[in-house]
Amino acid sequence: TPTPSSASPNKKDLRSPICCILGHVDTGKTKLLDKIRQTNVQGGEAGGITQQIGATYFPIDAIKAKTKVMAEYEKQTFDVPGLLVIDTPGHESFSNLRSRGSSLCNIAILVIDIMHGLEQQTIESIKLLRDRKAPFVVALNKIDRLYDWKAIPNNSFRDSFAKQSRAVQEEFQSRYSKIQLELAEQGLNSELYFQNKNMSKYVSIVPTSAVTGEGVPDLLWLLLELTQKRMSKQLMYLSHVEATILEVKVVEGFGTTIDVILSNGYLREGDRIVLCGMNGPIVTNIRALLTPQPLRELRLKSEYVHHKEVKAALGVKIAANDLEKAVSGSRLLVVGPEDDEDELMDDVMDDLTGLLDSVDTTGKGVVVQASTLGSLEALLDFLKDMKIPVMSIGLGPVYKRDVMKASTMLEKAPEYAVMLCFDVKVDKEAEQYAEQEGIKIFNADVIYHLFDSFTAYQEKLLEERRKDFLDYAIFPCVLQTLQIINKRGPMIIGVDVLEGTLRVGTPICAVKTDPTTKERQTLILGKVISLEINHQPVQEVKKGQTAAGVAVRLEDPSGQQPIWGRHVDENDTLYSLVSRRSIDTLKDKAFRDQVARSDWLLLKKLKVVFGIE
Ligand code: GDP
Repeated sequence: TPTPSSASPNKKDLRSPICCILGHVDTGKTKLLDKIRQTNVQGGEAGGITQQIGATYFPIDAIKAKTKVMAEYEKQTFDVPGLLVIDTPGHESFSNLRSRGSSLCNIAILVIDIMHGLEQQTIESIKLLRDRKAPFVVALNKIDRLYDWKAIPNNSFRDSFAKQSRAVQEEFQSRYSKIQLELAEQGLNSELYFQNKNMSKYVSIVPTSAVTGEGVPDLLWLLLELTQKRMSKQLMYLSHVEATILEVKVVEGFGTTIDVILSNGYLREGDRIVLCGMNGPIVTNIRALLTPQPLRELRLKSEYVHHKEVKAALGVKIAANDLEKAVSGSRLLVVGPEDDEDELMDDVMDDLTGLLDSVDTTGKGVVVQASTLGSLEALLDFLKDMKIPVMSIGLGPVYKRDVMKASTMLEKAPEYAVMLCFDVKVDKEAEQYAEQEGIKIFNADVIYHLFDSFTAYQEKLLEERRKDFLDYAIFPCVLQTLQIINKRGPMIIGVDVLEGTLRVGTPICAVKTDPTTKERQTLILGKVISLEINHQPVQEVKKGQTAAGVAVRLEDPSGQQPIWGRHVDENDTLYSLVSRRSIDTLKDKAFRDQVARSDWLLLKKLKVVFGIE
């Protein structure tokens, strides 16, 4: 086995970088992958491009051919043996391609549609890439859709761009600048890759078309450039195995198999392997190492080619016993002659048990179930962002006992009597039980749909809660009477808002102290039924919002309204009627997002006025 030297890595010691593609739906991820895979090399042998398991491998010769048009613009180096591109685009496969600490995806392509700019999943992808500290480039795709674009198939972007009309160039410039701004709003500095002087601070943007292939040479060149120059240490061949399970699949004739991305080291037939299983560690021996037959060989009997040994980086299918409960997204370890099998078993289960840190210790929260470690982790990240506690996590299908866990929340915290399930089967009995108990099960196979429906549900609950407590959600304000407009039936007062916000629905009062008994007395003038500024109705008025004064119409259903001129007058400061209960209501999650810091400070003052402890 080659020993990695820490100084300048020898070309021979480098393995192929692994690349992932993600972005919003319909930006062209699949099409771009297809275009990269397609060969423009004469002779049809696809330049050695091979379809692997879950990935496509580009040997360096194929990349050389594809990036030839770049020679005019950039110096090229071809130190790595090739490039491994993961075939399944998207968030989920990216999340699975990580092992704690080190990402197995060396570089990601974030695809943005130049006509649409940043979309919801673009922003989510950026968050994910940032959370996982994954290096990435942006493919600004669909440049051929710029009005009147003249395509030169598979050309370098710069050459094609130079040949466009002024109007096309201007449209590009304006769309590009807008997207650059949108990226900046997400905290990302970006620059067209050939103008990027500081690759570690600025994200590189490559304009592409997945239809004409323009910009694809640029993209490949950049992927090589960045990985070779900036990650040569991560790309060193290692003697030990680094591998991740992408999928667990039943295949006729092989039973349950696992699709694995081998990112470092070797795998051999007969190797003893350890992996994370749903019910504990799995230890087994590799029975077969398989990759797909080349296309032209499809007439052959078997769909797969068997290998005695495979070398990183590649995608390979492993057949072995006892793989039924293997967990996608987990690492695969090989037991070497020196290794302690038990230790490796603990190691590999850490991938799952490590996630248990996210489980709330008070036992309150939602139940989360996912099909893979990566998606489980993404779900937990999401819930953490939403500040939603998690009571229990699990992998694989949902059974009645899982729903029973969620049902313990019905009494403790009904808003958490919810199961969030990603891409898993829900057992019939479990479904019936959930229905009967009133447990809401969210199940989706696109992570964002799950987020969206769950967020909508939470918002609906909050909305209901707001309605229930609306009468007690009293925002603080202090008013000065400018003029009494109508003394009664209804009382209308012209006021100035001295502090806080005056809203329709707020009860208004004066606070008096009896001169003899020194007792505090609250005189309720009524509830605000309308507000007008210059005869224009408004829903709320903030301090300093108008110099004109606000006409406040008050309604008093109690019939106990104090008499203007006798009990209260222009000299009394007016307040919104706050109480212990109203303050607690504003602290509730249904309202606390709406209460500004200045409101809390004002409430503190009003507590003194009202004598609230
Ligand atoms: P994905 O959801 O991100 O995988 O997007 P697809 O690859 O399925 O593409 C979505 C749609 O956009 C399809 O109709 C593609 O043909 C189209 N499309 C993708 N890339 C381009 C492009 O560069 N130019 C144009 N004009 N259409 C594209």
